[in-house]
Amino acid sequence: MNGTSGTGGPAGARTGALPCGREWDDLVAVAVGGPAVDPGLSAHAEHCPYCAPALSEAAAEWSLVRAAAEIPVPPPPGLAGRALAAVRSARGAVGSVEVPQEGGVLRVSEQVVAFVAREAAREFLAATGGGRARSTTVRDGTVSFGLAVRFGVAAVEVAEGLRAHVRLALSAHLADRLPEVTVEVVDVVD
Ligand SMILES: [Zn+2]
Repeated sequence: MNGTSGTGGPAGARTGALPCGREWDDLVAVAVGGPAVDPGLSAHAEHCPYCAPALSEAAAEWSLVRAAAEIPVPPPPGLAGRALAAVRSARGAVGSVEVPQEGGVLRVSEQVVAFVAREAAREFLAATGGGRARSTTVRDGTVSFGLAVRFGVAAVEVAEGLRAHVRLALSAHLADRLPEVTVEVVDVVD
């Protein structure tokens, strides 16, 4: 995640639409083998000059996450502790969640955490008609949603359900290192 792609800006800014109109988030969903948000996208991406490189980049990044999960890394004595201390002190810059594993540590970037959280929220809110997520922020181990609740629904129930659904989705990637999930109601929609 070094932000050198042609879509400009740092890695965290790679959201929104590509010049062909397809969504970056949907390409990431294809790359991670998630639910097909955009059914024709895989076929389209094979021939699209914008989607094809974006998709392979997303797939490469995700394969690093998978590989890190699968390959045990035997750390030299003492090194792991020093490295982790360094990572923790630089947490703001590194932006990842550490998941201790047998023989090593899996780091899941906050960008991936934000993506999974955003997709889970979208899924939950679409299924329940509870409203829309206006923003998703991951910082210091906390996922924060700015929520626009649908007029007439109980905000407390939507927030509770959203929290539970997002934490369940994240538990597949982060085991027991689940972030706190906070929901702030910022708007009301019809
Ligand atoms: Zn395209």
